[in-house]
Amino acid sequence: MPTITSCFSRKLLSPMQSFRLQGLLLRHVSTTVREHDQMLLIKEHPQQSAKTMQFPGIWLRDNCQCEQCFHRDSLSRKPNSWINFDTKVKVQNVTVDESRQAVNIVWSDRHRSTFSLSWLKERDFSPEARERYMNEWYRPQPKHWGKADFDKILKKFDYWDVMRSDPVLLEWLEALTIHGVAMLKDSPLDVGVVKSLAKRIGFMRKTNYGAEFSIRFRPDAKNYLHMSETLPLHTDLPYYEYKPSITILHTLEQTRSLGGWSTLVDGFNIADQLRVNQPQHFKTLTETSVNWCGIGENADKAFHNMWRAPVINLDEDGKYARINHSVPRRDSHFSIDVDKVAPWYEANAIFVRMAHEQEVTFKTEPGDVLSFNNLRMLHGRTGYDDSENNIRHILGFFVDWDIVYSKMRVLKRRLHHEGQKT
Ligand SMILES: [Zn+2]
Repeated sequence: MPTITSCFSRKLLSPMQSFRLQGLLLRHVSTTVREHDQMLLIKEHPQQSAKTMQFPGIWLRDNCQCEQCFHRDSLSRKPNSWINFDTKVKVQNVTVDESRQAVNIVWSDRHRSTFSLSWLKERDFSPEARERYMNEWYRPQPKHWGKADFDKILKKFDYWDVMRSDPVLLEWLEALTIHGVAMLKDSPLDVGVVKSLAKRIGFMRKTNYGAEFSIRFRPDAKNYLHMSETLPLHTDLPYYEYKPSITILHTLEQTRSLGGWSTLVDGFNIADQLRVNQPQHFKTLTETSVNWCGIGENADKAFHNMWRAPVINLDEDGKYARINHSVPRRDSHFSIDVDKVAPWYEANAIFVRMAHEQEVTFKTEPGDVLSFNNLRMLHGRTGYDDSENNIRHILGFFVDWDIVYSKMRVLKRRLHHEGQKT
């Protein structure tokens, strides 16, 4: 099989040089292009264990880093690089530049590309490297938990630490992504806290109830925000296609009556249990679309929202994307085949029973800020008595995962660079 090969050796790097190369201690590198599928193979020597990295030629040509193909300021491929993109383009020649630690390619259309070895290594196609990248930069893997684990997994952060320290802000957001819940303590009893926190993360997500919402008893209540009765486990706003991702609740005042406890359960953990113990019911809850519905009025604006989706939503990898559950927000319209209705009720009843068995309860104190993943956790509240001198007042807002993940990546990159400078 005809191949194009090149290799180089290099002397041991001084500590200064090795720092600049960010761990890319290459003594000897060989490159080969496999003719039949145009795969560029890169191998480090002499480490026998070193795996050969593979890069498809078509991908390399698409990701050429030259000024003609790549726009440095926007860190993106130039839009016109695809107008005449030739999928049959071939590697004509490949060489390794030892001094620049780079691979040079001449293409069959005469175009020239240079890729640094560190850039290539970061984009290694091996399953291990891809997983490392996904966990580090895409999304951390959630860890599901049951009732017995709650005290262990609930991370608490000081409000002022989160506001003043970037590493603590990152820790809080990471705890939210991994465990689905985290608590801030000792925030001021000030209505501005929700705004300050939203600004610290990015910005609020607006809904029918506005950007901020007040949870407080009102005798003339028309919606559940303003009632004092027990709210069983639910997810907020399941009737949105783009359901608000994270619920953040700031306790300003807490009732001294016996009730007003928060309830919480990890919906992903309940789904795990169902998947293992009742696979048929699990299948039903992942495949049956339910009509979620919200009709009402807030601040003189009428709304009528509908979204059809299962209780347990899986992504294309079979991982949990979202849990929907709300007794009041489930419509009486059920737009599925009539013979599928009864099996869905059986499965949902078991899901709800299991969720209530795993429910944890706790009472927030004034100054607490409870944050949880509304795509994952079911939450609720026990009923309470409200009077003029004994009120419960919570201010809340939503923020979307897009905004939180983005903030986490920005913080990570910045903290990583600062770490390198010191
Ligand atoms: Zn180019």
